[in-house]
Amino acid sequence: MSVIYQRVALIGLGLIAGSMARAMQRGGLAGEITGYARSAETRTTAADIGLVDRVCDSAAEAVKDADLVVLAVPVGVMGAVAAEISAHLKPGATVTDVGSVKRAVIETVSPHIPDGVHFVPAHPLAGTEHSGPEAGFAELYDNRWCLIVPVEGTEPQAVARLRSLWEAMGANVDEMDADHHDLVLAVTSHTPHLIAYTMVGVADDLRRVTDSEVIKYSAAGFRDFTRIAASDPTMWRDVFLTNKDATLEILGRFTEELFALQRAIRTGDGDHLFDYFTHTRAIRRGIIDAGQDTDAPDFGRGGPKS
Ligand code: NAP
Repeated sequence: MSVIYQRVALIGLGLIAGSMARAMQRGGLAGEITGYARSAETRTTAADIGLVDRVCDSAAEAVKDADLVVLAVPVGVMGAVAAEISAHLKPGATVTDVGSVKRAVIETVSPHIPDGVHFVPAHPLAGTEHSGPEAGFAELYDNRWCLIVPVEGTEPQAVARLRSLWEAMGANVDEMDADHHDLVLAVTSHTPHLIAYTMVGVADDLRRVTDSEVIKYSAAGFRDFTRIAASDPTMWRDVFLTNKDATLEILGRFTEELFALQRAIRTGDGDHLFDYFTHTRAIRRGIIDAGQDTDAPDFGRGGPKS
C-alpha cells in the first residue's frame, strides 16, 4: 500500500488513536505521524513504545503542517480541542474525529474549522474495554465498519481520501447522516452499555448480601456484562450526555419490552417467552453470518467456562 496522507496528527493517544497509528504503520499509509495527549504520562508512554514518529508538547505543534488531523479525545472535549488547534491548521488540511456521537461533535467542532480546511466526521465501530496508549493494536479495524458522516458542502475528494485511509486500515466504510448515526448507535451500542452498567451495579448490591458469590460463580452472561461495564467512565459519561435524546428514546422502548417480559413471567406465558427468545436467537445468527462476531464458545476468549 502507499502513503495516503503525508503528515497525520493524532490528538489523543488512547485505544482508538493508538490503533490507527499501528494500522497506518502496518500499511505504510502515512509519511509521518505526530501525536499529542493531555498528560505528560501518556505522552511519555507513547514515545517509549514508539506509538507515533514524533510526540509533541502541544496540540498546536502536533497539527502544524498536518494533512490529516484526527481528534481522538472524549466527545465532551472535542470542541475545546478544535478551538485549541484552529489557528494552526494548514490550508487544505482535513480534520476528522472518531467520536462515538456525531451530531454533538459536529455542532461543537464545526465553528472552529477555518475556511479552506475540510471537516469530515467519522466513527469506527470497533473498540475494546481497554484504554490508553498501550491498548492500541493494528488489527482493531480489520473487517469492522467505519461510518463517515459528511457535513453539508464538504468536498467529495476530502471524503473519498478519508474513506481510502479507513479502507486501507482494514475497515469497511459506509456514509450516514448524523442523526441517523446517533439513533442507530443508541440501539447497537449506547443503550446496551447502559444496561450492562446497570446489571453490574445491581449484582454488586446483591453481592453485599451474598458475600461475593456473584464473583465466585460468575457465569458467562454476567461476565460479558462486566466486560462491557469496565469501559472507560469518561468516554461513556460523555456519550450519554451528548446522545441524550436517542438514548432516552431507546431506553423508553427497552423499558416497555421489559415490562412485557415481566408480565409474561408473572402470568406464566411461556409462548410469549419462547417466541421472543427464538426471534432474538435469529438476530444473533445474523450477526455471526455477517462476520461481525464469532460463534466460538465464550466468544472465543477461552478462560474458565461456566
Ligand atoms: P482513551 O483510550 O481513553 O484515550 C483518550 C485520549 O484522549 C487520551 O490519550 C487522553 O489523554 C486524551 N485526551 C483527553 N482529553 C484531552 C484533551 N483535552 N486534550 C488532549 N488530549 C486529551 O479513549 P479512546 O477509547 O481512544 O476514545 C477516544 C474517542 O474515540 C472517544 O471520542 C470515543 O467516543 C471514541 N471511540 C471509542 C471507542 C471505544 O470502544 N473505546 C470506539 C469508537 C470510538 P490522557 O491519557 O493524557 O488523559
